[in-house]
Amino acid sequence: MQQSLITIAYIAASALFILSLGGLSRQETARRGNWYGIIGMLIALIATAAAMNVGGLPILAAALVPGLVIGAILASRVQMTSMPELVAILHSFVGLAAVLVGFATYLGPHAAMTPAEKNLHLGEIFVGVCIGSITFTGSVIAFLKLRGSLSGKPMLLPARHLLNIIMLLVTIGLGVAFFMSPNEASGQWPLLIATIVTGILGIHFIMAIGGADMPVVVSMLNSYSGWAAAAAGFMLGNDLLIITGALVGSSGAILSQIMCKGMNRSFVSVMLGGFGTESGSSTSSGSQEPVGDVTSVDATGATELLLDAKKIIIIPGYGLAVAQAQHSLAEVCKILKEKGVDVKFAIHPVAGRLPGHMNVLLAEANIPYDIVFEMDEVNDEFAATDVAWVIGANDIVNPSAMDDPGSPIAGMPVLHVWNARTCIVMKRGMASGYAGVDNPLFYKDNTQMLFGDAKKVVDEILGVMRG
Ligand code: NDP
Repeated sequence: MQQSLITIAYIAASALFILSLGGLSRQETARRGNWYGIIGMLIALIATAAAMNVGGLPILAAALVPGLVIGAILASRVQMTSMPELVAILHSFVGLAAVLVGFATYLGPHAAMTPAEKNLHLGEIFVGVCIGSITFTGSVIAFLKLRGSLSGKPMLLPARHLLNIIMLLVTIGLGVAFFMSPNEASGQWPLLIATIVTGILGIHFIMAIGGADMPVVVSMLNSYSGWAAAAAGFMLGNDLLIITGALVGSSGAILSQIMCKGMNRSFVSVMLGGFGTESGSSTSSGSQEPVGDVTSVDATGATELLLDAKKIIIIPGYGLAVAQAQHSLAEVCKILKEKGVDVKFAIHPVAGRLPGHMNVLLAEANIPYDIVFEMDEVNDEFAATDVAWVIGANDIVNPSAMDDPGSPIAGMPVLHVWNARTCIVMKRGMASGYAGVDNPLFYKDNTQMLFGDAKKVVDEILGVMRG
């Protein structure tokens, strides 16, 4: 009876997780999707606790309560711009958990098995521990790089691909030794060495990746952590963990593919690790240096341009998030719309510092969803636009991605803001963006630079409009 209730709870939780993913895929339903996920996780926790024998409950509580408290404090304090760091460190916990579960399953007591069952069991343990170890060390390095504790520059050891292949072959050899071991006492050694080797592999993979490619790394590690959780599910014989892990693993892989497209990286090279090294430098410039003078405008001049326009497309970027200018911007949009101006937002898939960053910011300021468009939906509309208003964005509007094959971001799809009649670019100075690449957009004839902190300048524009 208890077992069937637990099975029902697990099925309900799985369904809620799938609904949650469905909900999170659209802005209008994202909040609901979040709730589905929370309720699903609550059901999963209660059902798993109910499945334990009573003696295990204090241990579960001792692990769960501090985890809940620390998680809640960290999540409530984290800045949106630091979200990738938090996500990376959380992935590392999943990897570490898979390693620990693997060792506990192998060394702990287990029921008698047929030779076929035993081989399957050993396979689950070995693969789970290796994926977990790569995920753990790789995520810690990604966390340190995103935090700035480690340089964003790629570390390129000589013959690094050969080194990776050697480590992979050594791991396979250790896997064979693990399978051949007559008992746990001798089998634990190849398992332990494989954990260390795959751990080094994880460090090496991520160290070789340049800062500009970190978003893809974070979403790849998201996928790895899902597969590590699924492997732990197989080891523990827990169907819900297998389903959840597979959902995270596959959605992470799909997100990585979308990100790869957004940054012009090939999925295969991402899977192999050590990718993006050609462009990884954070200080690189294109082969064609931008030339010409910069034309600047003040808040009053920009307001006139905005009020004279019939159609405006706003391109938010990382600087909007740093300045927290979204609420003032929402007010400006309201006034423009009241005056009959057609206002739209264009969102680049890698704008900001995490997938969906800009959508979250705009949703925070209650900007209506129906004026927010993905890059591909509006990119052709710039030619018929009076003002393209770039706020704190840089890499995602860099024409050298299209015009300069020598540019480190060559081939990355960008928003064609320069096709608009006038392009207002709002930022504090002439600094480059995340990829460290010069931007010829700033020197174009139809570009007007509006220098200053985004919040301060948008407030000034709002003041002029209201005045
Ligand atoms: P960028 O980092 O290219 O440019 C942001 C610009 O904002 C800077 O040039 C900066 O110029 C300006 N800025 C900073 N603070 C302020 C402020 N307070 N007020 C006004 N302007 C400000 O951002 P984009 O959004 O254009 O591009 C995202 C980049 O980040 C891409 O290279 C992407 O690959 C990368 N990335 C994306 C992730 C994702 O998942 N979305 C994750 C990690 C990286 P100045 O200093 O002169 O003001």
